[in-house]
Amino acid sequence: MREVLNQIGGVAQSARDGRFLDVFDPATGETIARVARSGADDVEQAVTAARAAQPAWAALPHSARAAWLTRLADAMDAEAEAFIALEALDTGKPIALIRDIEFPRALANLRFFAAAITQWASESHHGEVGLNYTLRQPLGVVACISPWNLPLYLFSWKIAPALACGNAVVAKPSEITPLSATRLVELASETGLPPGVLNLVHGQGDEAGRALVAHPGVRAVSFTGSTRVGREIGRTCGEQLKKASLELGGKNACIVFADARPEGLAATLLRAGWQNSGQICLCGSRLLVQRSAYEGLREALVEEARNWTVGDPQQPATRMGPLASRAQFDKVQAALDSARQAGARILCGGQAVRPEGRCRNGWFQAPTLIEALPEDSPLHQQEIFGPVIVLQPFEDAEDALRLANGTAYGLSASVFTRDLGTAHDMAARLRAGIVWVNGWMARDLRTPFGGMGDSGIGREGGVESLRFFTEPRNVCLTL
Ligand code: NAD
Repeated sequence: MREVLNQIGGVAQSARDGRFLDVFDPATGETIARVARSGADDVEQAVTAARAAQPAWAALPHSARAAWLTRLADAMDAEAEAFIALEALDTGKPIALIRDIEFPRALANLRFFAAAITQWASESHHGEVGLNYTLRQPLGVVACISPWNLPLYLFSWKIAPALACGNAVVAKPSEITPLSATRLVELASETGLPPGVLNLVHGQGDEAGRALVAHPGVRAVSFTGSTRVGREIGRTCGEQLKKASLELGGKNACIVFADARPEGLAATLLRAGWQNSGQICLCGSRLLVQRSAYEGLREALVEEARNWTVGDPQQPATRMGPLASRAQFDKVQAALDSARQAGARILCGGQAVRPEGRCRNGWFQAPTLIEALPEDSPLHQQEIFGPVIVLQPFEDAEDALRLANGTAYGLSASVFTRDLGTAHDMAARLRAGIVWVNGWMARDLRTPFGGMGDSGIGREGGVESLRFFTEPRNVCLTL
């Protein structure tokens, strides 16, 4: 059985007390590996290794740290197919999704921040009192905690800016999908990255994760995950007055006005709701449609849904694989059961899927479209993180805004209209950190990324990430 170990100070090692957790292939339900189940002792060791390595790392010129990130990206690229296979095994994602979108994005994260750090300028202010300039200095040791839905993509999105800025990292990937991050850190050691600069501690969130957040040697926590855990991390960081960036859940609305361009619309909306089995924080799980266009679009969606083949993620024709874990599968089933009891009309899907052959015990859910639920029902209000889109009609822009802004979340929204005035007015008034007009999930890595309300605090992306991972210091030359 494959053993997935901690990577501390450049050395692969088991948890101190030798405990492990099982790792499953969600497509088959079979155990594929066991991962170290770390505790506070392991975290202590990782933070110590990081602390020892950080000053020399911070002392390198930006261009030298950028060169390390580029070297790591090149090494990843050289074994792209192995990474893609590993991620597919661990997550059950269709290979094409990883090959076409997620793996290239992980590479782009490393290359983007390698370039960004060499181009970043700090501010200077003059003309009032003396000459002021801002020194941007690394924080020291930082924690990067990532979830299971986009394992390599989100892991690299955090560690790249943290390292580029001169911090040493202790990272904790999700215990559900630990394989690709482990290979990436091994590769960093193989390319010669100084030991201790990038460390990995595996294990449960409420053990290793909690110990890492609470460690006094950790100066900042960059976290992506659930709102529940985000709140806890926020409390701990608040108590210790350490920086926290919290990227949390979403219940994002796609808002379709009657004048929206119809070509490709249904396909885009289904992709927004169902990509990665609906397990993306940005998924448009609520579909609000202007009443005069509602029936026509509903038919188009049901028709388009026939193109979504669910099954073995290794098969090239498969569009949707399983949910990532048994717990996630159970959560989606429970949400659908209660929606049915609340009188929901299921337009397609609604049930679990049992493919033939090797995947018969996997955790598959049919892509689902639902309507006729009251506004305050849980499926309109709570993130379930599965391939489930809930439709709802609206009358006019005010009604659409009321519905779209009517949850505790505020991550993203999409507005589909040909009217620029409507698009701009909606974008300015939607309670969301990201608004797409006539699209979904188009990402320019230079832009701010993050949410409000239950979707989190702080922004990542471009200079926002660089700002988060540095401490600004004002120096005033009184001349
Ligand atoms: P989760 O909160 O359960 O776990 C995320 C990570 O935190 C894991 O590595 C976990 O081990 C760790 N963790 C759990 N409890 C912890 C604790 N008490 N202290 C420290 N670490 C702890 O989330 P998940 O189920 O892995 O991920 C799904 C969630 O992530 C969804 O809500 C989704 O919307 C959200 N998400 C948000 C974004 C975003 O950018 N806003 C992106 C992807 C996923």
